[in-house]
Amino acid sequence: MRVLRVLLGLAAALGVVAAGALTWVLRDLPDLEPWAARWELPEAPPRGWEPRITARFLGVATLVISDGETTLLTDGWFTRVGLWDILRRAPVSPDPDAIATGLHRAEIRRAAVVMPVHSHYDHAQDAPDVAGRTGAVLLGSETTAWIGRGAGLREDQIRVAEPGVPQVFGDFTVTHLVSKHIALPAGQGRLGESLDAPLVPPVPIDAYPEGGAWSILIEHPLGSMLVQGSAGFVPGALDGYAADTVFLGLGGLARQGEAYSRQYLKEIVDALGARRVVPIHFDSLTERPDGRHVPGPRLLFDPRLSFALLEEWAEARPGRSVAWLRPWREVVLFPSPGGS
Ligand SMILES: [Zn+2]
Repeated sequence: MRVLRVLLGLAAALGVVAAGALTWVLRDLPDLEPWAARWELPEAPPRGWEPRITARFLGVATLVISDGETTLLTDGWFTRVGLWDILRRAPVSPDPDAIATGLHRAEIRRAAVVMPVHSHYDHAQDAPDVAGRTGAVLLGSETTAWIGRGAGLREDQIRVAEPGVPQVFGDFTVTHLVSKHIALPAGQGRLGESLDAPLVPPVPIDAYPEGGAWSILIEHPLGSMLVQGSAGFVPGALDGYAADTVFLGLGGLARQGEAYSRQYLKEIVDALGARRVVPIHFDSLTERPDGRHVPGPRLLFDPRLSFALLEEWAEARPGRSVAWLRPWREVVLFPSPGGS
């Protein structure tokens, strides 16, 4: 009995130490403000008659791109799931209040298309609801389509993207290119897995498999951009394509290290000949941004690696820049050729 008591005591002590270590690691949050101060784009002046393309970044990989006539969204993710609910695999549903508030705050009434960059919950969980509220088409993988069906989205609002085949929305042309998800610790994220039946919430977040990761090319007479949600790449996949601006997902690079990060920049940003990089997916998955982006733990994203590499990339190449989008704020990405 005494041995058992000692063992139980030891186990309890180890548990306390492990919980303490986990808390410490998760509380090691980087300071993003020095980078925001260096790179921030000014708020868009009120829209006049001139055509222009604006963007808003709403956290993680949710972007709103608009030319005033047509509005496109990536992800449309407003729900957040707390760490405790993630750890205990609690069944969760899209948060209708967060979605309604988020759409209102980003001034989105109608949208042409909502495009999850892949089918993990932090990209695809709210997309069917957002499509339903804005009249948009949900465009993505087969798995994303099953998430749409599970949410009760009408079949005529669900479209499966064909790799490399352009789709037209107003003056925008959107092309989904096959990419790769960044490697995750063994057993996490159900990489390479897909759905073949409707996914009906509430479900634990690991019910959302990856379903295939995209690089999404968005072209318009005023400018071109690529949205890279997950920090993976298929070597050579973007050869022959070009984009002026890359929205570059940085989540998970801290684990992959410097050599991988440099290769990633080369395969995505340099392959497209891009002149501007907008960092995305560097922020918290458990808290919504307000006036500032909420940092995620340094364990997942370390600005001392990724932001420093971006700064080095811009400084080494004339005419290249890094742009910071404060959450919710509308910025002009491409002004009209003749005006502001
Ligand atoms: Zn993912």
